Amino acid sequence: MGYLVKIMGCGTSTGVPVLGCSCSVCKGGHAKNQRWRTSIAIWGPQGIPVVIDTGPEFRLQALRAGISSLQHVIYSHLHADHCHGFDDLRGLYFNSQKKIECWLHPEYEKELKLRFHYAFEDTGYLGGRPDIVLRSLPEHHGFFEIAGMNAETFFVPHGNAKTNIFRFGNFAYATDFKTVGDDVIKAWKGKIHTMVASGLRWKDHKTHSTISETIELFKKLDVERGIITHMNHEIDYNIESAKMPSGVELAFDGMEISIPD
Ligand SMILES: [Zn+2]
Ligand SMILES: [Zn+2]
Ligand SMILES: [Zn+2]
Repeated sequence: MGYLVKIMGCGTSTGVPVLGCSCSVCKGGHAKNQRWRTSIAIWGPQGIPVVIDTGPEFRLQALRAGISSLQHVIYSHLHADHCHGFDDLRGLYFNSQKKIECWLHPEYEKELKLRFHYAFEDTGYLGGRPDIVLRSLPEHHGFFEIAGMNAETFFVPHGNAKTNIFRFGNFAYATDFKTVGDDVIKAWKGKIHTMVASGLRWKDHKTHSTISETIELFKKLDVERGIITHMNHEIDYNIESAKMPSGVELAFDGMEISIPD
């Protein structure tokens, strides 16, 4: 059995519609132009869910995806749109009383503990706190095991920050990168059937890969099915979907992807 992936959200940091914006995408009301902040859930052969990133809509996303128990979370990086739903892990913990492993790059551990200090230290609050166990991703490149899946990760440039991108067997997930190095191409070329990767918009951006750059990456990696995520409000699903080359499509919130063996 292969992997099952659900797109929890495919929007950029502002979400779509953008507050206060009256453009046709934001105001049009089209279901596939409603984008919560970027996140996925993945189920491997053991059927245990792993969530990558908990943005501000995490609670709603988990409800929609039917996630009622969660012990494995990975953070790609700590921009607000990827981790500010961290607090919602409390609800899942209070129900299960099982520790929640959160994997992130060692460079980001201090920052996560600073932002959500009350989850990691005794503040005197009487309501209890979740049992969060931080696990370190490899420094630049390496492998780790999560929920019975073997995962590979690289730490790649994202403007003045860096982000972890991931491969689980023949599925890869990369969000918020500007570029990936030749080491990634060399390691992953020909190994990936389906890849979900961010493409912010068509126009160049200092910290994000554009849709064209991401399509180029799919080609370099010989990906059979490429799916674009982390899109902004310039991307009208119907209009831009029609422009995608064969083998490439745009994500939408709630999309379910089965990855064959
Ligand atoms: Zn982002
Ligand atoms: Zn707009
Ligand atoms: Zn980011």
